[in-house]
Formats: sequence, C-alpha cells, structure tokens
Amino acid sequence: MAKSIKTCSFCGRPESKVGFFIVGLDGAHICNECAIQASEIVKENTSSKSNLPNLKNEELPKPIEIKEYLDEYVIGQDEAKRYLSVAVYNHYKRLMQENSNDDVEIEKSNIIMVGSTGTGKTLLARTIARKLHVPFAIVDATVLTEAGYVGEDIESILTRLLQVADYDVKAAERGIVFIDEIDKIARKGDNPSITRDVSGEGVQQGLLKLLEGAVVNVPPQGGRKHPDQKMIAVNTQNILFVCGGAFDGIEKKIASRLNTRVVGYTAAKENEMVDKHNLLQYIAPQDLKSFGLIPEIIGRLPILTYLEPLDRAALRRILTEPKNSIIKQYIKLFRMDDIELQFDEDVLEYIVDKAIEFKLGARGLRSIAETIMMDEMFEMPSKKIKTLNIILPYAESKIEKTNINRLKIA
Ligand code: ADP
Repeated sequence: MAKSIKTCSFCGRPESKVGFFIVGLDGAHICNECAIQASEIVKENTSSKSNLPNLKNEELPKPIEIKEYLDEYVIGQDEAKRYLSVAVYNHYKRLMQENSNDDVEIEKSNIIMVGSTGTGKTLLARTIARKLHVPFAIVDATVLTEAGYVGEDIESILTRLLQVADYDVKAAERGIVFIDEIDKIARKGDNPSITRDVSGEGVQQGLLKLLEGAVVNVPPQGGRKHPDQKMIAVNTQNILFVCGGAFDGIEKKIASRLNTRVVGYTAAKENEMVDKHNLLQYIAPQDLKSFGLIPEIIGRLPILTYLEPLDRAALRRILTEPKNSIIKQYIKLFRMDDIELQFDEDVLEYIVDKAIEFKLGARGLRSIAETIMMDEMFEMPSKKIKTLNIILPYAESKIEKTNINRLKIA
C-alpha cells in the first residue's frame, strides 16, 4: 500500500512543493509559507487593537528629571536640554488632554535645534529616546533632498516611526520624530525667483503638511512609493517633531541682522555685549528664513533653540565624564580581558589638544583615541601582562605616525 503523502493542513500542498512543515497534534501540519501568512494576519488584526502606553501623570518624569538623565550622557548644552525636556513633558500632557472636556486645547510645540556639527544634537535625541514613554524615531532629511528625482518621498519620514512602534499605528500617531539635518532641505540662495531650486522648496512644502497635521499615506517599508504597495494611513496631528541642523554659515546672517538692526547709541551698547564667538545664541526665526527655510515651516517649529560650540573644557569633559564616555569604553573593553587600563592625565589633555588642532571637534576625540589605542588593542589580549598605562610619549608617537586625513573621516 502506498504511504500517504503528508500535506499542509492549510493549503493542501505536499512538503516537496514547500520549504518545510511544522507538525501539530493529530497529524496536523502547517507549511512555512502558510505560517508566514498566518503571522501576517495576526499582525494586521492586532495592530488595530493598539496597546497604547497609558500615560499617567504621576509616573511621567518631570522636566528636571529628564534633564538630569540627559546630563549623565551629554555634556553642557543646558538650554537645548531644558527646551527638549519641557517639550517632551508637554507632549505627554497634550496626549493626556485627549480625554479632558474643557475648551483649552494644548497646542503642539515642535522644536528646531541649531548647532554646529558634532555638538551633540543627535546624541541628545538618541539619549532622550531611551527615556521616553512614546515611540521615537530618528530620520535624516538628507535622503529627501532630491525627492521627485531619486530621493525618498517625504512620507518615508514616518516609516521609521511606524517601524519603531511595531506598526502599531495608534502608538505611532502619538510618537516623536527627530529630523536630523533639516538644513539640507533649505532653499539654496535667498531669492526664490532667481534660484530655481527643486530640492528645497518642494520638500519643505511636503514637510509642512506633516508638521501641520494631516492624514498621510506612509509606505510601510520606506523608500519611494510605488503603485502596488499597500500604504498605511497615519495622522500626524499628535506627532511631535524635533528638528536639528548645523545651518552652516548662519552666523553670518545673524551677524548682519544684529548689525543692521541696531543703529546709534543703544546700538553701540548692544553690539558691545555681543559675544562674537557664539553668535548662535542670538538666533531668531528670521535667520532661518534668510538661510532658506520657508516661513510656514518656521511658523510650525515655534521653539527655536541652539547648541553651544564645544570649547576645550567641554571636550575634555566629554572624554571622561559621560556615563558611556570614550575612555570608560576602552577601560571596559580591556577589563573584559582582565587588563587594568589607565590613561595619564596628560594623554587626555593631548587627545583634546589634537582634536582642537585638527579641528575635529567631539567626533575627533574617538578617532584620535582609536589611533592611540589600536596597537595595544591588537596585541594586549595575547600578552600575559595585566596592567596597561598609556603615557604621553606613547600617545604622541602613535599620532605623529598617522596621516591626519585618516583621523578626519570619523
Ligand atoms: P551632531 O548631531 O550635532 O552633528 P553628534 O550628536 O552626532 O553631533 O555628536 C557626535 C559625537 O560627538 C557624539 O556621538 C558624542 O560622542 C560626541 N559629542 C558631541 N557633543 C557632545 C556633548 N555635548 N556631550 C557628550 N558627547 C558629545
């Protein structure tokens, strides 16, 4: 008698036509393809029953607590930290007001942070993300620059948020999106009638729609939309947007505004007080306009804050103070091989000096440290020695041998 062929209890196909079977009770089988389909059906059905985080006032960290948490990882940048902490806290409150029945509606306060590259904008965003009670996504506006040509559609900004929220649309609709490099979508040139700039304005109009609050169709996998793709409708009404950008050269716009605005005696007095080394602290919405953001966008980012340039003292602190500072990371790496690692103080000062000399900023600290440590990281795990002290002549010899351009890549 012929042996009966096992078939999938769902699609009826034999094992030879599919990948493999998962066996159940009483001779039931499910093939790998039906299992995937079943899992998708489960996902679709559960996504409408959102497991929204239940925001309770007493459990939410207060702005001071949020800032204290940021302090553990990010050096300085007090003003940006305060603004972010308050914005996040108010965002929670805004979400909680959904059930209140008075007429006072708390409006959304999207933020824009301006600060030179490498001063901690993304670090702030990443750090605060760990402390949040709502989904949080970081996206980069550079991919949008060429929308209409080869770039991604503006809605793809929300794809990341959906992914973070595990495609729970309701949860994503209460989330926070950090848009990095927002300055890359600025209109190049100040005069829109002369400069025909495809990248800037169109993308800004698209972004405006998201900021204003609209129901938009989001491609679940990101990238460009294509006709057969199933879209997910997302309402951006309650999504908080935090934007960050270096706005290279905006200091000139600030300086010229400060110069033209003030004339006469009071002008001289005001100008005297202007700290020319940190012009960003005087940033105002009109500077963003001069830089090339359309006024409607600026209007939808009512909170404008800045990041301080990192001075020598800040760089030195960054090297050792944050909870996961570069130096603490090396010590941990070596400890895993039972090696006690120590750095002489003058080595740390030297790393900072080189970062300043080569104009590498905070990012350079790591590449310089890495150059100093590379040979030891290669050799020490195979040696019997259990202590390692990095001294200045050793650090100097490693850096002097290096092509400085290699440090810059970091
Ligand atoms: P940005 O987004 O402003 O260009 P990042 O946040 O990406 O800069 O900073 C680059 C790296 O420099 C960070 O990963 C971090 O190691 C270091 N860094 C920059 N600013 C700070 C800061 N204020 N405190 C601690 N580390 C910092």
